[in-house]
Order: sequence, then structure tokens, then C-alpha cells
Amino acid sequence: MTNPREVSATASGISCETRIFCANCIHCKLLPSPLGQGRYKLRVRCEAGKWRKPLGEEKVYKYFTVARRSIESCDAYEDMGEVEDFLRDLRGLLPTSDEEYGR
Ligand code: SF4
Repeated sequence: MTNPREVSATASGISCETRIFCANCIHCKLLPSPLGQGRYKLRVRCEAGKWRKPLGEEKVYKYFTVARRSIESCDAYEDMGEVEDFLRDLRGLLPTSDEEYGR
């Protein structure tokens, strides 16, 4: 889809503002961050290149925080479905901390 869809976050319990949730966007991608010896942590990135540090470097976020990533608007947003249902299911699956995976 090309039209950003803004949703009310009231029902999702995040805020009373109208926001776009990056976790529900097709450009929000999961990637491993290697720790060595087959161990890794999970990070998320915006493959549309919208998450930047002040000096222009790409910014990635810890996976367990992904449900918190929201913005007022984004011209690259492509939703993956009903955001409230998606976020509710996602919150039930997300780890509660920056966990390690692998061996
Ligand atoms: S394209 Fe926009 S809405 Fe999608 S993940 Fe990137 S910043 Fe978030």
C-alpha cells in the first residue's frame, strides 16, 4: 500500500495520540547481531532507511522494544494488517529483555 494509515493507539494502550507503529510495517526487519561463538541477539532495522542517528548512521533497535517504535507519519509505511490485532499478538510473543540466542 502507498497510503500511510494512521491509527488511534488508544485501544492498544500505548498513548492517546494517533501514531504509526513501525512493527506493523513491511520495512521493519528482524536481524541477528552476532556475539561470537554462534551466539546472537536480535535487532530490528528499517530497511527503508528511515531510522538514523543524528550524524546519519543507521540506527537499529533491540527486538524486545520493537512494539514501542512509533512515529507520527512516514511516507514509506506499508502496513501488514490490522495494527491493533498485530500489536496485541506481537506483545504476547516478544521477549521481555534483550535475550541471547544460539548455542
Ligand atoms: S518505513 Fe517508516 S513506518 Fe516503516 S519501519 Fe521504516 S520508519 Fe517505520
